Amino acid sequence: MTQVVSPIVVAKFGGTSVADFDAMSRSADVALNESHARLVVLSASAGITNLLVALSEGQEAPGRFVNLDAIRKIQYDIIDRLARPEVIREEIDRLLENITTLAEAASLATSPALTDELVSHGEMMSTLLFVEILRERGVEAQWFDVRKIMRTSDRFGKAEPDVAALAELAQQQLCPRLAESMVITQGFIGSEAKGRTTTLGRGGSDYTAALLGEALHASRVDIWTDVPGIYTTDPRIVPAARRIDKIAFEEAAEMATFGAKVLHPATLLPAVRSEIPVFVGSSKAPEAGGTLVCNRTEQPPLFRALALRRRQTLLTLHSLNMLHSRGFLAEVFSILARHNISVDLITTSEVSVALTLDTTGSTSTGDTLLTTALLTELSSLCRVEVEENLALIALIGNALSRACGVGKEVFGVLESFNIRMICYGASSHNLCFLVPGTEAEHVVRKLHGNLFE
Ligand code: ADP
Ligand code: ASP
Ligand code: MG
Repeated sequence: MTQVVSPIVVAKFGGTSVADFDAMSRSADVALNESHARLVVLSASAGITNLLVALSEGQEAPGRFVNLDAIRKIQYDIIDRLARPEVIREEIDRLLENITTLAEAASLATSPALTDELVSHGEMMSTLLFVEILRERGVEAQWFDVRKIMRTSDRFGKAEPDVAALAELAQQQLCPRLAESMVITQGFIGSEAKGRTTTLGRGGSDYTAALLGEALHASRVDIWTDVPGIYTTDPRIVPAARRIDKIAFEEAAEMATFGAKVLHPATLLPAVRSEIPVFVGSSKAPEAGGTLVCNRTEQPPLFRALALRRRQTLLTLHSLNMLHSRGFLAEVFSILARHNISVDLITTSEVSVALTLDTTGSTSTGDTLLTTALLTELSSLCRVEVEENLALIALIGNALSRACGVGKEVFGVLESFNIRMICYGASSHNLCFLVPGTEAEHVVRKLHGNLFE
């Protein structure tokens, strides 16, 4: 077993932190300032993944060429600021040529496997450029293709990692390199059994960092982004939101699950499993500090944060057969399971059941969940009503289901809004409800004002 200098910190930089040369340089400073940050995980430069996703949807010329040019410009702007641009230009050009060929193939026939192959080029390019920036500073840094160790299922667009294989392969292939120098690798991407490229879902680089942290027994995973920590709600929606200095794993996991984009929803699974603290900070202002997500916090507050998830679909299923019968819900869930759909919220009455599906397209293949096949199958069982463009608002807190007066505190100030569905009581950590998508931000501001300001 190769010994890696301990303790090791995994540092992950998101899209805005590697958006251009200046952002990459600041991120390089941040990584070099933390002497234990030997493994650096990167996203694609901001905007690149969206452009690649658009290409993978099979764009025709001339739109395709506009996107290809936009990708080339973002990466060339970085190369042009290097002291020795010639060292890296050829390699980036080769990847840009691949992208061109794959985008053309997608314009003829799209496929989830092709999408993942195409989309993975964003992370490949950002990591190559970052290594070059470090080398120009005289830092020894190795580029590593994470697909060698990030084995996943073949669920393209939302692949599940093989944690045991990752632990073994990281030990064999990554540890010897980490013992030599700093290693720069890609977030978000992996490979399935046949060697085809997969992705972990949009925003998946946070998850990669946590998985690698777990595989390497890291002492901490640092998520460097464009906000100096986790706030009481998205500071873009509520400028008065406050930073949470320390938060427990479960609370942060609930926030991520219910839409706080600052962490990919699965990020904290490996962190909790292996008790690895996660720090969230801003690569633009590292001195501003950040949030530490860890095992325990003193006196967890009743109300911790508000999260918002858009584009929720509400399915209401009515069936008179449900009256005094058994097995109806089991049948509904087995249909949903066959279609690979996980349900978020659910409420039931005597003859109907309402449930929400998350259609925020967290797969990079952008699959629509509500397929005709699914609706046909459900319709053979019951009457189906579909409402789209709702927003799920989650109040995250502690011991919520045991406290008194929560309902009044929350809904008292929301009397002018239509609350479409409420879920409360299953978890002591959250209270969730649905509102029309157009009113979501207004509701968040109103509620934040009442509970947190
Ligand atoms: P990165 O590209 O670094 O992964 P993201 O855009 O995925 O960054 O996540 C950072 C963004 O998350 C912030 O700019 C902010 O708007 C959003 N966000 C949502 N909820 C929160 C929250 N509770 N605290 C902080 N940021 C949040
Ligand atoms: N580049 C990918 C995305 O934009 C993964 C990530 O940034 O985490 O979704
Ligand atoms: Mg992100």
